[in-house]
Amino acid sequence: MIRVEEHKEPQHERASERFLNPAKLYLSLAQATGKPSSACVEIGNLVEEAQVIATNDGLISSVLHSPKKGKILNIAPWFHPVLKRASAMIIECAHEEKKYDARKDVAHLRKEELLGIIQKNGIVGLGGAAFPTHVKLNPPKKIDTLIINGCECEPYLAADYRLMVEHLTEVFKGIEIICKILGPKNVCIALEDNKPEAIKAIHRILSTKKFELPLTECRVLKTAYPQGGEKQLVYSVLKRKVPSGKLPFEVGALVQNVATCFAVYEAVYFDKPLIERLVTFAGDALVSPKNIWVKIGTTLRELFDKDILKFKKEPAKIICGGPMMGLALDGLDYPVLKGTGGFLFLSDHVALRDEGPCIRCGACVRECPVSLMPCLINLASQKSLWDQTKRYGASDCIECGVCSYVCPTNRRLVQSIKRAKLEGMK
Ligand code: SF4
Ligand code: SF4
Repeated sequence: MIRVEEHKEPQHERASERFLNPAKLYLSLAQATGKPSSACVEIGNLVEEAQVIATNDGLISSVLHSPKKGKILNIAPWFHPVLKRASAMIIECAHEEKKYDARKDVAHLRKEELLGIIQKNGIVGLGGAAFPTHVKLNPPKKIDTLIINGCECEPYLAADYRLMVEHLTEVFKGIEIICKILGPKNVCIALEDNKPEAIKAIHRILSTKKFELPLTECRVLKTAYPQGGEKQLVYSVLKRKVPSGKLPFEVGALVQNVATCFAVYEAVYFDKPLIERLVTFAGDALVSPKNIWVKIGTTLRELFDKDILKFKKEPAKIICGGPMMGLALDGLDYPVLKGTGGFLFLSDHVALRDEGPCIRCGACVRECPVSLMPCLINLASQKSLWDQTKRYGASDCIECGVCSYVCPTNRRLVQSIKRAKLEGMK
């Protein structure tokens, strides 16, 4: 793992803001890992906040709810950070906020009922992968350790940190529910040493012993990238290696992001679906980088039109996600997805540098957190030798971007490895 410049200020220190009354939402049907959802409403229908408007198609998929009361204006292709274009529901929103009543029987809910509530409310992993949580929380093998991931190791991103500082009790209630489902022997809340307020708050809450948890510790890790990757975190915390092509449950561990714990809490305690989330908006092109609670489907354009965000200079690059793993965007029409942790607006210091030849320095091989040989995969990928890229283990790449970051000749390693992964799946 490597040290990268963090750029977490000032969004780390500022209290989060809220913008939960957009005029329009662009709710992509492709929100989660797996098949896109299928719309179950029609153009012109009036919908209530939290009403199911798209159903899941198959197990690895997620149901979608309307984030606001409003009218379905259209169902048409719209901008999507990953897929470029994907079918989306365009909703004209009413200026009304729904109140969610607290559920009274939480303590009596059984494992199957809890999983059902999580599925019904469309909860997916909020660490980026957006894998349906009800599937992840039902592993085929018993796990002994639940790791709560508060690392947020990508530079600039700070939403998980603010969530831990501002809503830690709710995150702990979510962890309690997850423990009831999984029955682990141990819980480890893992975060990095660049999050002092969250560390203090976790120690404070653990000392009260007011939550029904198994043996629980707060593990403070040295800040490094990509510590928050599931397999890297399992190794950092438990020194267990997850084999190639396998998931952490194979070695008795399961990793959940802190924001997912919060979403589980809201689903179980209030029957509130995943319709809003905390998102970081950062970068040197913004007047005031910050974290904002926004409805899923809110576009960047609306945030700028309403002066919630302001440019102080023209951004040279807009990125969905962090600078290491994020995706470049070509404008402001992209919406927040369930898995979106942040958007960056960066000026010229990230301009693409010229790519040089490989000088066989070995830096990419030394630093790859999954022990691949990025330089060789890159060469094979450039020649479309897909069998060879498969043999070199391209499918194990977690797309962390470390190889490209350390390459002294600026080779576009991660891009070519991503291509090899896609070709390998065909
Ligand atoms: S090959 Fe993949 S996993 Fe390895 S450093 Fe590059 S992007 Fe990260
Ligand atoms: S870091 Fe770049 S120059 Fe060095 S071996 Fe890898 S691809 Fe070649």
